[in-house]
Amino acid sequence: MNSLPVVETFRSIQGEGIHSGRSAFFIRLAGCNVACSWCDTKHSWPQSAHPQRSLAELSAETAAAAADGAAFVVITGGEPLHHNLDELCEILAVLGLPLHLETSGVDPLSGKFDWISLSPKRHKPPCNELLSCCDELKLVVHEAADLEFAESMAAANIAAVNQKSAALLLQPGADCPAGRDLAINYVLKHPNWRLSLQTHKWLGVQ
Ligand code: SF4
Repeated sequence: MNSLPVVETFRSIQGEGIHSGRSAFFIRLAGCNVACSWCDTKHSWPQSAHPQRSLAELSAETAAAAADGAAFVVITGGEPLHHNLDELCEILAVLGLPLHLETSGVDPLSGKFDWISLSPKRHKPPCNELLSCCDELKLVVHEAADLEFAESMAAANIAAVNQKSAALLLQPGADCPAGRDLAINYVLKHPNWRLSLQTHKWLGVQ
């Protein structure tokens, strides 16, 4: 494999999660069969609707982003782990930027990453491998059952790791006042959780 289906590449700030607010270069891969009803990147689902781009091209763009001040690369989607990411990571690693992954965790891990943001979905929970190696657990909240699921994922993470457990984040669903209130009230009473906000949406940036 020396190409991957790519929806888009872009420079922006990381809008959500622990690294929110930092300069990043994004590679959004195409293809996702997780089918979240509230997905805000449904255009990324059909892999065939997006061009195959060579890893050499992606590497050149990443090098340019590094020269432009990007602090890290975010491999996102779609669901990036539908693809084997070994070769992409090998090629990008030589450029020196930390590699971050955003995944729902439904597939086995491939590639080597410096930061893994795992966003488990209730209707398709992640595999244990991802639960054991993620750096942050980011749960989207629409209703009370999402909080129960969030706690079950946090417990599964603690059970799966030997040493450091993941940072725990609750992220209100987009345009969902009920989710916002649930997440805020939960974080107020549970100090091991913190709020993650999609700040890029507020700012009107990508
Ligand atoms: S896993 Fe991500 S890209 Fe796939 S449907 Fe869910 S939110 Fe959308």
